[in-house]
Amino acid sequence: MLSERLARVEERIQDAALRAGRKREEITLIAVTKKFPAEVTREAYELGLRCFGENYVQEFERKHPALADLTGVEYHLIGHLQSNKARIAGELFQVIETVDSEKLAKRLEQSNRPLEIMIEVKLSHEESKEGAAPEELPALIAAIRACPNLHLTGLMTMPPWCDDPEVTRPYFRRLAALAREHGLAKLSMGMSHDLEAAIEEGSTHVRVGTALFGPRKKE
Ligand SMILES: *Cc1c(COP(=O)(O)O)cnc(C)c1O
Repeated sequence: MLSERLARVEERIQDAALRAGRKREEITLIAVTKKFPAEVTREAYELGLRCFGENYVQEFERKHPALADLTGVEYHLIGHLQSNKARIAGELFQVIETVDSEKLAKRLEQSNRPLEIMIEVKLSHEESKEGAAPEELPALIAAIRACPNLHLTGLMTMPPWCDDPEVTRPYFRRLAALAREHGLAKLSMGMSHDLEAAIEEGSTHVRVGTALFGPRKKE
């Protein structure tokens, strides 16, 4: 049951915050609803969740009309965004977590809406991972800060998959150091299996799918 799984995730967040000497309110739970129907988002909303993460612009475009009556919700785009979908993404989401190029930032600026932005940082050398390299951050941050519609608040990362949180912890620590260096307050890091390590390293936004909603269908 979702209510039971939510209670368990909540307990994990609280325990990790306590261990790290942090306040629970410093951490936002982003419920990752990708590949689940709109009714699942609604059920989570009814249990009090207000922040949702989606990976695919087109999928969310389809689900969004069925959720139009929900108020006070914040939708985060946490999947890779192609420039040609930037305009529609700017209409559907309040927060774009995966900005990784100046080109994409400029396209989002053109959607002419106030948008909260996080930069996705690539901290590994995996071929497949999207994200800006740490060396690219100064120029990218300056470019985003020059866009009047974009409000840059933080960094996001997705470490290479590993079921051992101690293997991903150094990536979280590195992201936290980069955010400090660039004066950014928010850190979107940590998922179902490693949210404790992420919170201990300073995460302000954990993105949790499986631990709340169960396994997703494969493509
Ligand atoms: C799917 C996804 C998540 C959630 O992962 P779980 O392991 O199901 O909690 C978090 N972040 C991103 C970027 C994702 O694509």
